Amino acid sequence: MKIVFATANKNKIREVSEVLGGKFEIVSAAEAGVSEEIPETGNTVYANSLQKADYIHERTGLDCFADDTGLEVEILGGAPGVRTARYAGGPSDPSRNMDKLLAEMARRQYEASIMRAMGLKTPHATRRARFRTCITLILGGTKHFFEGIMEGSIALKRSGKGGFGYDPVFLPDGCDGLTSAEISEEHKNAISHRGKAVRAMVEFLKDK
Ligand code: IMP
Repeated sequence: MKIVFATANKNKIREVSEVLGGKFEIVSAAEAGVSEEIPETGNTVYANSLQKADYIHERTGLDCFADDTGLEVEILGGAPGVRTARYAGGPSDPSRNMDKLLAEMARRQYEASIMRAMGLKTPHATRRARFRTCITLILGGTKHFFEGIMEGSIALKRSGKGGFGYDPVFLPDGCDGLTSAEISEEHKNAISHRGKAVRAMVEFLKDK
């Protein structure tokens, strides 16, 4: 059974194909005839995944799914959230994004310490954060949603060379203070937001 993954990212296609096994053939958006960049203008990761899946479905009529991920940092009120990929502006740049994140968090923590010193009430200035992935699957014209979350916190500086994106500054819970750029790919897939969302979708598809 053919199913279109609304992405041009070959790594993601490989990752999902491995989890899905032989029953479903995953094809990229381009292989399904949609080679332009798919718009993502929603205000949440849910809205973006829905927008991307709808875009493919309207043009191909095929079963399809799309994912979208955001990093939610508590002290930043849930930012960068839906703007995670382009947090530092311009085209997505992981290094500039991480610099901006660490700088914004340092600024907020400093402000909070001044407020506390002045005896003012301030929200807890923790470094708690989570990655959230949402997947929208359109199967036989019906929409289904899946979510995966990886809880953790943001490190004070970068560590590790593995992974991608914000991995060098993300400390997943239960990893002994290692960043997600310092753990193995298998370990990360087992605990990651995207791994969990994909497995939830795969569980659902197994009965189809
Ligand atoms: P996307 O929706 O999968 O494109 O993810 C949006 C942005 O979140 C990416 O550009 C990455 O910077 C970041 N991101 C997504 N997943 C991860 C991850 O597993 N580790 C680190 N950064 C991630």
